[in-house]
Amino acid sequence: ILELDRVSRRFGDRPALRDVSLEIMRGEVVCLVGPSGCGKSTLLRLIAGVEVPDSGRILLDGQEIAGPSRFVEPEDRRVGFMFQDYALFPHLSVRDNILFGLRQLPKAQAAAQADRIIRRIGIAELASRHPHELSGGEQQRVALARALAPQPLVLLMDEPFSNLDRRLREHVRMETLATLHDANATAVIVTHDPEEAMSIGDRVVLMRAGQVVQTGTGYNLYDRPGSIYAARFLGPCN
Ligand code: ATP
Ligand code: MG
Repeated sequence: ILELDRVSRRFGDRPALRDVSLEIMRGEVVCLVGPSGCGKSTLLRLIAGVEVPDSGRILLDGQEIAGPSRFVEPEDRRVGFMFQDYALFPHLSVRDNILFGLRQLPKAQAAAQADRIIRRIGIAELASRHPHELSGGEQQRVALARALAPQPLVLLMDEPFSNLDRRLREHVRMETLATLHDANATAVIVTHDPEEAMSIGDRVVLMRAGQVVQTGTGYNLYDRPGSIYAARFLGPCN
């Protein structure tokens, strides 16, 4: 459903991404993993359209959304983005935060869609609260609801669990995964934690210095690392 074809992006003379090609299937949960600065967030930003590739093409659902001759604005792409800090609007209630993402729809339809996702994610009792009245885990669920409400073709999540304490993280991780599968969502999740990537990704994409080093199931990568780098990064001694 999403295809990157030799996508490159540099900042000044520093390449952030070099010739990245990647294909993501409908319904797949893919984890992007790699050390700090390897280009994970840049890759998500290119897919979201808040960053422009220097070369290469990005296709979503068969349509070119970024390339030499075409650039679709972020709000016109059916791509959802969930930020590390959740980026909820502090002055809006939970329900209004979710409705904000649906503002292009007619009012009644937006309301119905918001209520559906609120029910599905189980946050009805939080709907009239404001973000500062929520725990970290609750904010995470609201951010997920807001990102899923417009029914994006692809949901991008940048370090979605890093703001949660250890105890909560495992629980929220599994709950999020269940929600994604339940919604039949296609998701690209960035993490720097190889264990997390292997536990939640249908497929893991390992990056290094702006390039994709290896991709496969978590088990596959763990069991058959294609390089010493992969073995070190994903291995038990990491
Ligand atoms: P982290 O795990 O720390 O979030 P990352 O893998 O997400 O790292 P990116 O944020 O994609 O890494 O950055 C990749 C490289 O591009 C880094 O060297 C970074 O300094 C550089 N970079 C990213 N955005 C910009 C920018 N707007 N201007 C200049 N350099 C940038
Ligand atoms: Mg990042």
